[in-house]
Amino acid sequence: MAETVQLYIAGEWTAGTGEGAYALHSPVTGEHIADIPIASTLDIDRAVAAARAAQDEYRHWSAIERAELNHRIAAAIEPMVEEIARIQTLEQGKPYHEESLGDIEEANGYFTEAAEDAKRLMGSVIPTSERHTRMFTFRRPVGVWAAITPWNFPVTIPLEYLGPGLATGNAVIVKPPLNTSWALLELAKAFDVAGVPKGLVSIIPGGGDIGEALVTHDGIDAVGFTGSSATGKRIISMMGVKRSIMEMSGNGPTIVTADANVEAAAAAAVYGAYYNAGQVCCATERVIVVDAVHEEFIERSLQAAKEVRLGDPFQEGINMGPLNNEPTAAKMDRHIADARQKGAEILVGGGRAAGFPTDLYYEFTLLDRVPEDSEVSQEESFGPVLPVLSAASDEEAVAVANRSRLGLQAAVFTSSLERAFWYTDRIRSGTVVVNDSTDFWETFQPFGGAAGTDTGWGRGKVDEFTDLQTMVINLQNVAR
Ligand code: NAD
Repeated sequence: MAETVQLYIAGEWTAGTGEGAYALHSPVTGEHIADIPIASTLDIDRAVAAARAAQDEYRHWSAIERAELNHRIAAAIEPMVEEIARIQTLEQGKPYHEESLGDIEEANGYFTEAAEDAKRLMGSVIPTSERHTRMFTFRRPVGVWAAITPWNFPVTIPLEYLGPGLATGNAVIVKPPLNTSWALLELAKAFDVAGVPKGLVSIIPGGGDIGEALVTHDGIDAVGFTGSSATGKRIISMMGVKRSIMEMSGNGPTIVTADANVEAAAAAAVYGAYYNAGQVCCATERVIVVDAVHEEFIERSLQAAKEVRLGDPFQEGINMGPLNNEPTAAKMDRHIADARQKGAEILVGGGRAAGFPTDLYYEFTLLDRVPEDSEVSQEESFGPVLPVLSAASDEEAVAVANRSRLGLQAAVFTSSLERAFWYTDRIRSGTVVVNDSTDFWETFQPFGGAAGTDTGWGRGKVDEFTDLQTMVINLQNVAR
């Protein structure tokens, strides 16, 4: 039986005012699991008007009161963790035990950590040139945020906006994709339990049309976008003068140098390619291996690939589920065919796995001798593929890494501190991880794109949800 899900608009549960519903099919089972109401632009108008009214009052709450609200939300989420994680696996496909539970177990942290950070956001007292003037700055909330989010982390990415946004006095309207909005709507029940003022948060799933109506809306002050660089560019060109945090695509290389612990590098690269079936912005999309250790790296990767267990994501021990959607699987097909045609060697996998309820279960794929001009090297594949490229030297490895415009999070394996800094000084990416996977992640890591690339900007920390306001006082001009 498909579940009828409701939208969360202006603090109310509603079917919205659009026509019909989106029939959500699980990538795990292929079954029709839920109907998500189609929202209309009237729903957007209603959510924005309610957010403006609610935020007008909420912006006067003290930092401590806002922190307490965030802590109440976190507490309300805790008893719901297993149910949210179950829905997330069903709609998204990630392994329940190995990934989904952990994702949702850390969900409360997005609220509690932002609450504590926001308590310590301070303004300044600025020296002035005149004896009789004083100057101060205050941190003010920006206003009403539109958060446009992707399907690969359906719950935690929206929380990256909701946690710090609420902690700093903003209202947030989230627009998740239709096919991965149920788990987030389930979590939204915690907002009611915690007593979030009506209108401060709305969750309105939809496609690009609803996203576009939201980001271009006059009542929206700021846009938080997490998704592909192509969509991000479109949003930037349309949204007008609005504050933004843009978190976009990655093509994170791992570089394996001549003095690397090759066993650790291979394990981290394989993990970075299969975690969430490779559908991660900082997945290990490419490995650039210096010639001296190429052969050993391939041997170790073949060993590490035996750890990948593709299957029913609800089963314990399974660490890779199906891909989320057909366009992603089709892109994998294309990238692998192109690499093969350009001379790459398929060492493991290479296509869709047979015998599963849907056609979205994809084999973990290891490609060697991948030419730099192949699609799998140039573009983000977003699937469980590890393409191995070669470089004769450190200089060449950096040059190959930097020829991509998607350097979001790179990794370097080396046993030399000098080399670690040499690479970090030269790689154009938002983060460089030394001796660990490109998938390294901490909830409060300053994570984001690199300047001058197509990866975006902003680190999503509490201060970015605020504007500085300056106050100047002339102490002389008073009635005496
Ligand atoms: P996408 O760009 O297709 O969609 C992202 C969101 O934008 C969705 O909600 C979609 O409905 C919406 N959207 C689409 N067209 C729009 C428009 N014209 N106006 C407003 N909204 C619009 O991306 P996706 O396929 O959902 O997600 C995968 C991408 O996200 C990958 O490129 C991945 O690297 C990236 N990503 C980046 C980060 C990061 O932190 N940098 C994190 C996760 C995912």
